[in-house]
Amino acid sequence: MNLQQAIERYCKRSAIDAFHPQTVLFDMDGVLYDSMPRHARAWKGVCDEVGIEADADEFFAYEGRTGASTIDILIRRQFGRPATDEECRSLYKRKTELFADQPLAPVMHGAQDAVATVVAAGAVPVLVTGSGQGSLLDRLDADYDGAFAASRRVTAYDVEHGKPHPEPYLKGLAKAGVDAIRGIGVDNAPLGVESSSRAGLFTIGVRTGPLRPGTLLEAGADIELESMEECAQALATIFAAQQ
Ligand code: CA
Repeated sequence: MNLQQAIERYCKRSAIDAFHPQTVLFDMDGVLYDSMPRHARAWKGVCDEVGIEADADEFFAYEGRTGASTIDILIRRQFGRPATDEECRSLYKRKTELFADQPLAPVMHGAQDAVATVVAAGAVPVLVTGSGQGSLLDRLDADYDGAFAASRRVTAYDVEHGKPHPEPYLKGLAKAGVDAIRGIGVDNAPLGVESSSRAGLFTIGVRTGPLRPGTLLEAGADIELESMEECAQALATIFAAQQ
C-alpha cells in the first residue's frame, strides 16, 4: 500500500475529509537513535551470564516492554516458572550496566531530516519514549537542534501505563495541544505502534530492526516503512501536500 492509499484509509476510519497534520510524535530508541542493537546486546549478555538461552534478535520484538516483563518471559521459558522480584531487580540492574558500558548510540540515519522537515513545515515535534535513559535524553538538544523542548517530551517518568497502552501518545498529543486526527506517530516497535494507533494517530511503523516484514502493519501501523530515510521522505510528501 502506498502513502496516499494509507492516508485515504486513515481518513475514512477517522471520519475526516482530509488529513491536516500539525504534530509528529517520535519514539526515541530505534527511531531517533540507533540504540536498539545495544539494548539487544545488553540483554543477550545478561542471559549468557545466568545461563538463559536467547537470541539477540528476539529482544527487538520485546521492545517497549518493562524490564520485569522481559525477564519474566525469559525465566519462564528457560526454567518453567515465573521470575522472582529479586531476579527482576538484579537482572535489570545488570542489563542497565551492560548497556551503559557500550559506546554511545549513533543518531539514526534519516531521523534528523525527518525532524527538520516537521519543524520547517511549522508542525510541532514531540518525543514519546518509554525510556528513562538519561544518556540519550541529554543528547537530544544537541543532536536535534532543540526541536524537542523539555515541555514536549513524554518519558518513562510521565506515564502510569507504558506502551502498548495509548497513554504515552495521548500525553504527547496533549503536550502539543493537538487532536489525534491532526497527528502522526512514528515508532519502530510493535508495542509502540499499537500505542500510537490506539491513541488515534496516523501511525508510521518504521522497521529499523530485524522484525519480520508486516509485523508493524499487524500491530496497527497505517503504513510500514523500512528506514528513517523513507520516513523523512514520507513526511516531506505529507507536508508538501499541505501547502
Ligand atoms: Ca522504539
